[in-house]
Amino acid sequence: MKDKPDRGLLAVNHEDLEPLTLHPSGPTIDSSGLRPLAEVRKELAALGVSIIEVRKNAAGAWERVTDSPYGRRITGTTPMDITGPAAGHPSMRTLADPEGRTVLGTLNNCASGRTPWGTYLTCEENFYNVFTNKDPTDLKARREHRRMGVKTTSSYAWETVEERFNVTPRLDLPEQGYVNEVNRFGWVVEIDPFDPLSVPKKRTAMGRFSHENVACSMTEDGRMGLYMGDDARAEYIYKFVPRNQYQAGVTRGELLDEGTLYVGVFNEDGSGEWVELQHGRNGLTRVNGFKDQGDVLINTRSAADHVGATPMDRPEWVAVNPFTRDVYVTLTNNSNRGLDPDRNAINAANPRPKNLFGHIMKIVEDAADPTAKTFRWEIFVLAGDPSLEASNLQGNIKGDLFGSPDGLWFDKFGRLWIQTDFDDSTPEYTKSIGLNMMLAADPVGREIRRFLVGPKGCEITGVTSNPDSTVLFVNVQHPTLSYPASDGVTRPRSTTVLITRDDGGVIGT
Ligand code: CA
Ligand code: CA
Ligand code: CA
Repeated sequence: MKDKPDRGLLAVNHEDLEPLTLHPSGPTIDSSGLRPLAEVRKELAALGVSIIEVRKNAAGAWERVTDSPYGRRITGTTPMDITGPAAGHPSMRTLADPEGRTVLGTLNNCASGRTPWGTYLTCEENFYNVFTNKDPTDLKARREHRRMGVKTTSSYAWETVEERFNVTPRLDLPEQGYVNEVNRFGWVVEIDPFDPLSVPKKRTAMGRFSHENVACSMTEDGRMGLYMGDDARAEYIYKFVPRNQYQAGVTRGELLDEGTLYVGVFNEDGSGEWVELQHGRNGLTRVNGFKDQGDVLINTRSAADHVGATPMDRPEWVAVNPFTRDVYVTLTNNSNRGLDPDRNAINAANPRPKNLFGHIMKIVEDAADPTAKTFRWEIFVLAGDPSLEASNLQGNIKGDLFGSPDGLWFDKFGRLWIQTDFDDSTPEYTKSIGLNMMLAADPVGREIRRFLVGPKGCEITGVTSNPDSTVLFVNVQHPTLSYPASDGVTRPRSTTVLITRDDGGVIGT
C-alpha cells in the first residue's frame, strides 16, 4: 500500500480550533463563567490527528474511502503512552495518572515527520495556551510552566469544566492535583497509521518544547539524525540521534526511546556545534538544578539555555535534501530580534533586526553524517521585498517574492518546496507579496518560483505527494480569519487541496 500511486493514507494534524465556525454562534460562556461541557468536549474532539484513506476511483477521480479500516480519529482525549526517559518521572505524575505513564490526548499538533519504518510523527506545539496556572508566584518559580509560556489565563477556558487543564498546584490533593498535566504535552508523538488499534506514543527522549516538525536523515548503513525546530522567538534548533542504527524490517519506534538530544550552536565564522543535552554533561547537573535525564528533557529549553544554545528567529520546519543530506530550516520571522539584548540580540545566523520576512538556513553536517557533532552553516535566502526602502527588509531572493517561510519539504527529485505563513494585512506584505503561497526552490541555483497562492486569511501548511509524485496534497489552514467569505454568508473552512497535472505527469516538471 505504501508504494501504490493510486491509493494511500493521509495523516492530517488538526492544530487549532476555529471556534467561530465550530459552534453555531461561536464559543459561549455561561453567567457563572463556565464553558458549556458539550462545547469543550466538541473542541477536544476537534483537535488531534486524522488518518484518512484516499484512492483514485475507476473514473480517475480521487476520493476518500469512507469505510476504510485504517480510518481513525486521534483526539485531545485519546489515551496514549509516555515512553523514554521522562516516562514515570515524578514531574509527569498527576491525580488521574499516579504512574506518570498514560496521558489523555495530543494537542496543538503543528507539523509532522515520517519515519523509515512507516510511522507518523506528530508534533505538539502551542499546547501551553490551553492550560493555566492561576498562582502567579508559583508560576514564576516553576520553570516547567513558565519557560513553556503557561499563563494565569487560558485560551479556551476549558479548565472551568475539565479540571486537568487547571495546573495550579493543589496541596490538598495527591501529586498536587494536575500541576504536572502540562508537562505531559510538548512532545513528539508517534502514530502507526497502518495499525488502527495501535496506542500512540509520546517519545520523551526527543525533548519537550514547541515542536514544529521532525525531519529524519539517514546514512546507507542506518545511522540516523532527527532534526527539530522550536517555534518561538529566540528558541533553538535540535537534533536527536538514536543510540541504535536503523535495520530494515526490524526497527520499530522504540529506536526513538534511547539516544542523545543535541541543541545547535551557530558560530560567527560559519561553523557550528551540536551540544549534548545529557544529564551530568555540559553542566546539566544536580547542583545546577537538573535532577536526572527526565528532568533535563521535561525542561529542554532550560537545559538548552544552560549550555549556551544560539537563539534563532522562530525555527519552523526542517527538511533534509535526499541527495546531499543538507539540512534546511525556515526561520519564519522575529519581531523582537535586536530589541532584547538578553535573548534576542543580533547574531550571525539571525542577522536582521525586527526580522519581518524571515530567512532559510542551510546546515551541512561534517561528512554529510546525520550523527556528526559539528557542521557548517550558511543563510540560503533572506526573504523580503527589494522595492521597500529599509535595507533590512529587502532580502536577496532570486525569483518570486515571499516572506515568513514556514512549511518546508523536499520531494524525491530534490526540489525544495516552501510554504508561507504571514498576516496578509501587514502593509509591507501587501505592497508586492500578497497572500500566503507555496513556492519551489532550486537548492543549487537558488532560484525560487511561486507555485500557488491561497485564499485571504489562510496559511499554506503541510504537503506530501503520492509515491510517483503525480499528485501533491497541500493544506490550506484557517481561511476562516476572513470569515465570512466575500459573499457575506459562507463559512470558509480549512481543507486539503489535491493537485495534479493535466497530462498526469510529475508535479514540478
Ligand atoms: Ca509554528
Ligand atoms: Ca508552522
Ligand atoms: Ca508559522
